[in-house]
Amino acid sequence: MECIRCKSKRVVKAGFKKLTRGKVQKYKCQECNKYFTGKEAYHRLDKDKIELIHKMYEEKGEQRKIARVLGVGLATVQYHLKKTQ
Ligand SMILES: [Zn+2]
Repeated sequence: MECIRCKSKRVVKAGFKKLTRGKVQKYKCQECNKYFTGKEAYHRLDKDKIELIHKMYEEKGEQRKIARVLGVGLATVQYHLKKTQ
């Protein structure tokens, strides 16, 4: 596990975040004090790819197609689209 902001490995567990379904492990970076969940780390992508997801989606790209073209999971595409909607 590494920090999603500064990529430091100095990350500690910081309890759980409650979700509608179950819960997800929360982490805290000891370098930059960023809190994040395992889910965010799991879906982390290059900035370029995230921009591409939005670009393709705005051009009426299907989520499944975007996932296939970029070689990422459908859940990851949906995660990034949801974050900015
Ligand atoms: Zn950090």
